[in-house]
Amino acid sequence: MSLYSWGNYPRIENRVIRYTGERGLAETISKNSQMIPYGNGRSYGDSALGDTILHMRNHDLFISFDDQTGLLRCKSGVLLSEILDVFVPRGWFLKITPGTKLITIGGAIASDVHGKNHHVEGCFSECVLSFRIMTADGDIINCSREENADMFHATCGGMGLTGVILEADIYLKKINSKNIVQTTVKTSDLKATFDAFSEYKHMPYSVAWIDCLAKGSKLGRCLLMAGDFADDGDLTPNADRKKDIPFNFPSFSLNNLSVSAFNTLYYAKGKNGVAKVDYDQFFYPLDAINNWNRIYGRNGFTQYQFILPLDASYEGLEKILKKIADSGKGSFLAVLKLYGKANENWLSFPMEGYSLALDFKIEHGLFDLLYKLDRIVLDYGGRIYLTKDVRVPEKTFEQGYPMIDKFRELREQTGMNRKFSSLQSRRVNI
Ligand SMILES: Cc1cc2nc3c(=O)[nH]c(=O)nc-3n(C[C@H](O)[C@H](O)[C@H](O)COP(=O)(O)OP(=O)(O)OC[C@H]3O[C@@H](n4cnc5c(N)ncnc54)[C@H](O)[C@@H]3O)c2cc1C
Repeated sequence: MSLYSWGNYPRIENRVIRYTGERGLAETISKNSQMIPYGNGRSYGDSALGDTILHMRNHDLFISFDDQTGLLRCKSGVLLSEILDVFVPRGWFLKITPGTKLITIGGAIASDVHGKNHHVEGCFSECVLSFRIMTADGDIINCSREENADMFHATCGGMGLTGVILEADIYLKKINSKNIVQTTVKTSDLKATFDAFSEYKHMPYSVAWIDCLAKGSKLGRCLLMAGDFADDGDLTPNADRKKDIPFNFPSFSLNNLSVSAFNTLYYAKGKNGVAKVDYDQFFYPLDAINNWNRIYGRNGFTQYQFILPLDASYEGLEKILKKIADSGKGSFLAVLKLYGKANENWLSFPMEGYSLALDFKIEHGLFDLLYKLDRIVLDYGGRIYLTKDVRVPEKTFEQGYPMIDKFRELREQTGMNRKFSSLQSRRVNI
């Protein structure tokens, strides 16, 4: 059975090879070409898709844990949720986590994911001490900032194109509660949204939901959520509140009217104030609904996520939000985040500035809009996030990532380009 990504687009047939051990993997690599590792398929686009997929999810053991330093060694198919289930009751949490806990350690490193605390803690690679990776000739090498440093910096954010990550040493952080004290701030326009981010910059976690169909004086209005872990000693497991979307919605059910009505209601319901919520409610609200990607119907959807440098963020975002509101192609999910400094990894997405992520159902005219948005992103010195992308052209991609030639050279010299590729890597020529 073929595997798809979270966006359910494109739906191509592929051959799936499941991980059965290091020797089996080395044989697979020597006998095949043009494979791509696959973790838990939570990337939105085509970065984990290709004709032959190496499915790593069942490679999921914990190996060791040091409760003095918080250093965990585990296999690359372990999910973040599995780490939380075991370690939150012992008073440990992930240093960096994206908006879903249903991703593997391999996927977290390969996309160098980030969370609501990028402005304070940076990307996932900040908690990675080292990892072991199988290269194009079947050898296994250890990579860290000191050992095989080029491979370390190319692999963190390298979208599975530098080999198969087998296991990693990652640091967890100490917590004294599973709860977050969350402050909600409701803003009336983009200026107030930026002011709110500045005011809550000292908080380790912040994120804003933007009403992307609001126009005129309401353009850029948001609900900003900022928070930090409580100190109440509560480390009990969270209640299981999972709900299901049992089938694909018909694609006509999501249209401009329904998105606009949802956005207006959601904004109206939001209230200023402080509340204590558990970590699932704060970090992973979407994980509470199994298969929520089905609301976009059989044609699937994509997420457009870009980042703009700090000094250009306000002007660029204003232009982009206007274009989206005028196009009438709305998005329920429009998430704005503040980012800290870029790291040394060659293809990591973040830079100091603001990033907006928007979900759009795949429909006629969508890509034309996104190509126009790309233009604005590049004009303001920004870039597009590969792990969400499904259509960015080579030239647009290249302009956003100045280290790309170094990455291409490493792939060429190590033979990775002959063994590992995805639909995305072929499109953007890496
Ligand atoms: C609801 C939701 C919220 C999200 N929020 C965020 C967010 O806040 N921040 C953020 O940064 N991302 C976010 N993401 C994206 C997600 O974190 C990344 O796409 C992540 O890489 C997915 O991991 P995965 O294990 O599912 O990997 P996959 O989607 O299967 O693969 C992703 C990439 O990792 C590579 N890969 C996977 N395993 C390995 C391995 N063992 N060795 C080498 N390469 C490997 C693949 O080749 C591919 O390039 C979100 C996704 C969803 C669905």
